[in-house]
Amino acid sequence: MPAAPLPEPAPATEACPGCGAVLAPVDGDVAAHPGASPSCTRLFDVTLRGPREEASADAGAVATARLADAAYDAQHPVAAEPARLSAALAQLGTALGAAAPTRPSGPPSAWTTTIADVAADLDVIDLDVLVDSWARAVFADWAAAGAPERDTDRLGNDAPSTFGG
Ligand SMILES: [Zn+2]
Repeated sequence: MPAAPLPEPAPATEACPGCGAVLAPVDGDVAAHPGASPSCTRLFDVTLRGPREEASADAGAVATARLADAAYDAQHPVAAEPARLSAALAQLGTALGAAAPTRPSGPPSAWTTTIADVAADLDVIDLDVLVDSWARAVFADWAAAGAPERDTDRLGNDAPSTFGG
């Protein structure tokens, strides 16, 4: 193995194992959310700092923070904690007025929106609006990944009134 002419540089970015967000690594020890990279966890914490600080006086901020927590949990599932994912999906479903996917076959292979997208748009769009659309996207990604095969679509007999007898 030839000697490398240059020292190996520190990686400029790291991809979150949960949501796939590519971010600059953070310095120091950061307690990462399960299933997330430290940099993704840090970005989430920083982005939601406002509503968390306002939570004692603002019910809207409480709702935004809770919805964001559920979206983040759902986007960073860990096999060892299925209850966390189930609770997150149930909470998203309740908040968004939809039935949670009951038996998702696995996490979505790609995500429509991540906390990095939320943070990127924060200058021009209110956080509560961004969190709402992010949560809907996470929920929709899960629903698409977990949708059961619809065998009835494959029967080839699409007459609408076949059960008249
Ligand atoms: Zn992430």
